[in-house]
Parts: sequence; C-alpha cells; structure tokens
Amino acid sequence: MAILPIVQFPNPVLAMKCQPIAEVNDDIRRLAADMGETMYKAPGVGLAAPQVGEPIRMVVIDVSEDKNQLLTLINPVITERGEEKETGEEGCLSLPGIWEKVTRNTSITVQFMDLDGQKQEIHAEGLLAICIQHELDHLEGTVFIDHLSRLKYDRACAKLKKRRLQEKRDKAD
Ligand code: ZN
Repeated sequence: MAILPIVQFPNPVLAMKCQPIAEVNDDIRRLAADMGETMYKAPGVGLAAPQVGEPIRMVVIDVSEDKNQLLTLINPVITERGEEKETGEEGCLSLPGIWEKVTRNTSITVQFMDLDGQKQEIHAEGLLAICIQHELDHLEGTVFIDHLSRLKYDRACAKLKKRRLQEKRDKAD
C-alpha cells in the first residue's frame, strides 16, 4: 500500500464529472487500499478518487471512532433521501483549513458495488450520511464550497490563498 498525494483545490480534476468503473479488478482494489491508507494518514473521514487524481467513481469513508470500518463505494448512487435536513460544518482534505456550513439530508439510501464487484445497498444516517453526500459530490466535480453563496465562496478561496502563502513563507524561513 502507499500514501498518495492529495490533489489540492482548485486543481481541474476536482471539477471533473468522474467516469463509472466498468470492472472491479486488482488495480481498483489496490487504488481503494491506497486511498484508505491516504485518508487515515491525513487524517480524514472520507476521500474520493479525484482527490488522488483519478476521475473515476469510487470513494472511501470511515466515520467510526476506532477507524476500523473502512467503507469503499464503487459507482455509488443515492436512491433515496430523507426529508429532514441538517446544517453542519464541513471540511475537505483538498481545501485544508477551510470549514464552512453546508445543508445536507440527514438520511439517505445509497446503492453501490463493493470490492468484490457485488451490488450493495446501505441506509445511512447522521455523520455517515453527510460524509457520503460530501464524497459523492466530488464524483460530480463539486466541492463543498460550491454549496456556499458567492460571497462566502470568494471568502473561502481568499482564506485558502492566504493560508498557502503563509505556508510557503513558513517553509522559506
Ligand atoms: Zn472533500
């Protein structure tokens, strides 16, 4: 397994609509394992394939406290959304240091293929439901700040820029 570099916003791969995975083979399983390791190391609770530069429809998620419930979703589709919505703060490994409020459905049903190529369906609530919606957005080329008003979006981008400049300066010192 390997730790992969995480693509940073606004890299164009993060704005791409990702392609379905035709066959779950060893290459896909290896990428899934690497994505899992990369996510745990970061640390984060979710990572989508475009975030490691692969515009294909796969995400890994683990919202468990002990970080021992790695979920890999291949070609995931949300088939049902509960009526209730919740607004909570989100962050993203591709936009480090940015935390903004996003409104999401609190419960969803998602269909996907697992690492054996078998069709699966899960019903998710709470943090898992929110995390799945965040990661699936990435497969459509959407990052969480795209849900913000223009003003808040611009402010988040400016903050990100400032943070990167500061990091560069810190490294130069
Ligand atoms: Zn993200």
